[in-house]
Amino acid sequence: MVISEFSEKERDLLGPYFTNLDRDVFALRNLPEVVKGALFSRYSRTTKSLRRTFLDEFVKNPDVELPPAADPWGNVVASEKAEQFYERVLVGYGDDSVAELGGAHVALERVSALTAKEIEDSRIGLSPLEKSTRYVFFDRQVADEFEYVRPHSIMHSPLAEIYIRAMDACFQAYSDAIAPLTASLSDQFPPEPGASERAHRAAIRAKAADVLRSLLPVGHLTNLGLFGNGRAFEYLLIKMAASPLPEVRELGFQLGRELALVILAFTKRAGSERGRDHSSYLREREIVMETWTAGLPDSEHRPQPAVTVVDYEPAAEDKIVAALLYPHSQLPLEELRHAVAGMPAAQKLAIVQAHLDGRVSRHRRPGRAFEMADYTVELCANFGVYKDLQRHRLCTQQRQRLSTNLGYTTPPELVGTPHEERFHECMAIADAAYQALAERFPAEAQYVVPTAYRMRWMMKLNLRELAHMVELRSTIQGHPDYRAVVHDLTQQVRTIHPVLAELATAFVDWSEVDLARLKSEQRNEEKAQALGLV
Ligand SMILES: Cc1cc2nc3c(=O)[nH]c(=O)nc-3n(C[C@H](O)[C@H](O)[C@H](O)COP(=O)(O)OP(=O)(O)OC[C@H]3O[C@@H](n4cnc5c(N)ncnc54)[C@H](O)[C@@H]3O)c2cc1C
Repeated sequence: MVISEFSEKERDLLGPYFTNLDRDVFALRNLPEVVKGALFSRYSRTTKSLRRTFLDEFVKNPDVELPPAADPWGNVVASEKAEQFYERVLVGYGDDSVAELGGAHVALERVSALTAKEIEDSRIGLSPLEKSTRYVFFDRQVADEFEYVRPHSIMHSPLAEIYIRAMDACFQAYSDAIAPLTASLSDQFPPEPGASERAHRAAIRAKAADVLRSLLPVGHLTNLGLFGNGRAFEYLLIKMAASPLPEVRELGFQLGRELALVILAFTKRAGSERGRDHSSYLREREIVMETWTAGLPDSEHRPQPAVTVVDYEPAAEDKIVAALLYPHSQLPLEELRHAVAGMPAAQKLAIVQAHLDGRVSRHRRPGRAFEMADYTVELCANFGVYKDLQRHRLCTQQRQRLSTNLGYTTPPELVGTPHEERFHECMAIADAAYQALAERFPAEAQYVVPTAYRMRWMMKLNLRELAHMVELRSTIQGHPDYRAVVHDLTQQVRTIHPVLAELATAFVDWSEVDLARLKSEQRNEEKAQALGLV
């Protein structure tokens, strides 16, 4: 908990713009949209809290104009009327969609990465932005303690010491490796002649962070900015109250309190009896499912490929071609599909090609017709890959509980280096801690699992979203772990639907790179120079 890190003068400055100055969860108010957006986007690359960033980079920046602090709520009479309106429509008539017409920016700081994932799992109506494990090192200590979650349940049990020892071991190894690994990577990848030194330094730093994130337990603390509409927040609060993780439930309570200060009319129902009943229903149905799985055979933790396409649409070509033609035809869908089924293959191909012809970059996505082909995919990859791919909101994703049972991946950059042995030692310590904790604290035990450990999750997605995901996530600035996974997925989907998938995923980037960030850092540098910013 942050306790008054601000001076009196700073508190005066911050007061009108944040719903509180002393807690880790707070909402933003009375700020221009552009400032709120810019503030949240800074979360990705800074260790600072949002309010500190605001003071350091926005208030003191003469270029950003802030509205006068006085009379922040303005037209009180109109607000009251509006509140009454929402009361009538939402509570009275149950017209839920009107709750999408107002929104809020909220910050959730010092939350575990595991909890951040649970929040980001809510897809519709929410836009999250989280501190990056690539641009920020997680080696800071506050009062001699590394920044990870200390769950009350474990801390007040005889297993507290095991938990702390494992967390500290991983954090210490992570911290100790930053400087030597950065130096050795810099030797291994010296700057190319003519390349910017600053861009090179940034790329090396990012690579070291990418490698070392494998050591970070998922209980590490991160910062999260959320922009969302009232309806999405209402459901998020209901879901958070139903979580098996106490941290999520407590955070949901705090989030509800701050949202009440800015969009009470939109989220009020979450805290009502009806909302509480809804949460109980969600929780109870999960408990019931758990009892059903109890009768299933135990998993033997067999090795499993990173990507398994479990099922797919066999008639994808015909369905997509018919959907491409549908808006331009006057035939009922079934007749159109029948007509397409009778077309020669070359004609179907020509139709698909004609549709995709003007795609000059991945930003021009295949049309909605490509949503007619679904794939169900099971992934078995490290938590880092899950963390990144889970953010694709148009997929249906469900994960299994994180554990150490599926083994871990070792970053190739550590193999044969002085860091390798300690990496394996940390994995073993974390495994022992997880096994000790899992039976008594199945939800909280996940915190101790380092990012390198594999997990299983499933993803149902259509070809249009698949194309977006694999084209975006194969770009060379992506993390090599998820690049490998989307390459594999692309290859498998191209085998299933050779022509169709190949055309739809034409901008997958297969190039091999040593320094993922170098090109984009160089581009950033050039842009900054052109704008006179450096
Ligand atoms: C190189 C790289 C670095 C990244 N770094 C960070 C980081 O530091 N911190 C961080 O938090 N995230 C980071 N991300 C994740 C990124 O912010 C996105 O969350 C993620 O890539 C999901 O992709 P998407 O937003 O395109 O949408 P998806 O969720 O896959 O949705 C597909 C498309 O649907 C549309 N869409 C979906 N939802 C909305 C909506 N609410 N409003 C409008 N349109 C919508 C958009 O057109 C979107 O592209 C990074 C991603 C990449 C590739």
